[in-house]
Amino acid sequence: MKTIIRSDERILTSDIFESEARPTRPDWGTWWESGREIPVYHRCDVLVVGGGPSGTAAAIAAARQGASVALLERYNHLGGLSTGGLVIWIDRMTDWQGELVIQGIAKELMDRLPDDAIAGPAPAEWGSTDVQRAAHWSHRTAAYHGVVTWSPTIDPERLKLLSQEMVIEQGVKLVYHSWTSLPIVEDGVVKGAIFESKEGRMAVMAKVVIDATGDGDMFARAGAQFENDIEQGDVHHCMNTAWLFAGVDMNAWLEFKAGSPQQFSDFMALGRTTCGLFERPFVSWRNDVALFMGPRQSGYDGLNVDDLTAVEVRSHRAMEAHLAFYRAHAPGFANAYMMLSAPQVGVRHTRRLQGTGAVLRSDWPNGVALADEIGVSPAVSPKFPNISIPYGALVPKKLDGLLACGKHVSCDKNSHGFMREIPQCWITGQAAGVAAALAVSQGVQPRAVAVDALQAALLAQGVYLRPRVTAPAVVA
Ligand SMILES: Cc1cc2nc3c(=O)[nH]c(=O)nc-3n(C[C@H](O)[C@H](O)[C@H](O)COP(=O)(O)OP(=O)(O)OC[C@H]3O[C@@H](n4cnc5c(N)ncnc54)[C@H](O)[C@@H]3O)c2cc1C
Repeated sequence: MKTIIRSDERILTSDIFESEARPTRPDWGTWWESGREIPVYHRCDVLVVGGGPSGTAAAIAAARQGASVALLERYNHLGGLSTGGLVIWIDRMTDWQGELVIQGIAKELMDRLPDDAIAGPAPAEWGSTDVQRAAHWSHRTAAYHGVVTWSPTIDPERLKLLSQEMVIEQGVKLVYHSWTSLPIVEDGVVKGAIFESKEGRMAVMAKVVIDATGDGDMFARAGAQFENDIEQGDVHHCMNTAWLFAGVDMNAWLEFKAGSPQQFSDFMALGRTTCGLFERPFVSWRNDVALFMGPRQSGYDGLNVDDLTAVEVRSHRAMEAHLAFYRAHAPGFANAYMMLSAPQVGVRHTRRLQGTGAVLRSDWPNGVALADEIGVSPAVSPKFPNISIPYGALVPKKLDGLLACGKHVSCDKNSHGFMREIPQCWITGQAAGVAAALAVSQGVQPRAVAVDALQAALLAQGVYLRPRVTAPAVVA
């Protein structure tokens, strides 16, 4: 077991567990797959591949901007890791002064969740440095560096449903159970994609394809350049399957964790010895549900099917070991039971697009609104100003007909630590959706979309920008 100590640029310290050696795969030879004609299932302006936070926002935004949109998702729900991955702790949407900088569809989603499906501090507390309030919220995922933040926990079923209904409200053609396998590319321009389903292999033709797979499946297979280097001091190279225990009393657990530091430290030491892979719980949207987003495992590849299987096997075994240990030793867990292991494996990082622009570590101290800003991210710590997200982070260097959004946008390995977070994925998704729709209506490639028009459209959709243009007047 290896423990990573983070620098002050990071939020949490974390235990990271190394992988077991992967057995060599035997050489079973090859099989020649011959070409065949396949039916075109649908034609549209904008095809979004992947229905995670970024793809959901992209589909809604493109449809609101007037495009006909289809959304293909391999599973039976929207929300990606934020629902099916049980990553129900939405990272910070406020900056260190308490201003809500993640707005647009992200804010709308949080606002429209039922009151009993979201937990976190009231707006009046955002940015508070009151010692007691910060101490209270620091145990409830909503205060860091002594500042109270808006970083709520949510009910994944409610977010699935809300995401689905918002997509349908906009007239998007939503297709579940469709695994997109190949982009259709002609002369360096993406023209659609091929997907597999119970009906076999079919195509969707589109004027712009948005890759929201989280792994760059579309842009990589279309030949776009990408990066995959990692930051060892971060956890973004780790994988695990998250889970929920129910029947717990998290208030009792937090009282123990905060009130008895020595006993808590002894508990963690015993847990590591007893279970091997070991993780502590986070609060959820309910007192009787505990969230485990680890143990974090490094050395695995989220694009390798053997590694994905190994992480599932280790995580499910860890879930059982944790239940026995927590029932026996953790205050508040005597009656705990396994509620759910995540239907989607937790892959934090695989590929990152090489875009015409990028979010870069060297730019963190600048605090400058880039000329092509399409969103603003809170900085990783109060010592940095807010960070500008450029449109170029979504645009491949060479490939046309495609935009990327979500956790595989163009950024360096340091900036990936926050660019992969759910609020930032909603932001880049919304921008990709609006840009794709504008490309279609203007009859240009996405790289040629006028930035002024893009920023004006994003402002009109409620996105927080520090632009050079003003939003068009709202007609009552
Ligand atoms: C364990 C873990 C803990 C995390 N902790 C936090 C946290 O506390 N707070 C936070 O804000 N963020 C956290 N993150 C990061 C965050 O959850 C993800 O980076 C974010 O959800 C990425 O959004 P996305 O839309 O880019 O991709 P995803 O959420 O991965 O969604 C991609 C979607 O595309 C679908 N898809 C993929 N490939 C295909 C295909 N070929 N065809 C069809 N569909 C496809 C998938 O099924 C999925 O629904 C965590 C991530 C992990 C793994």
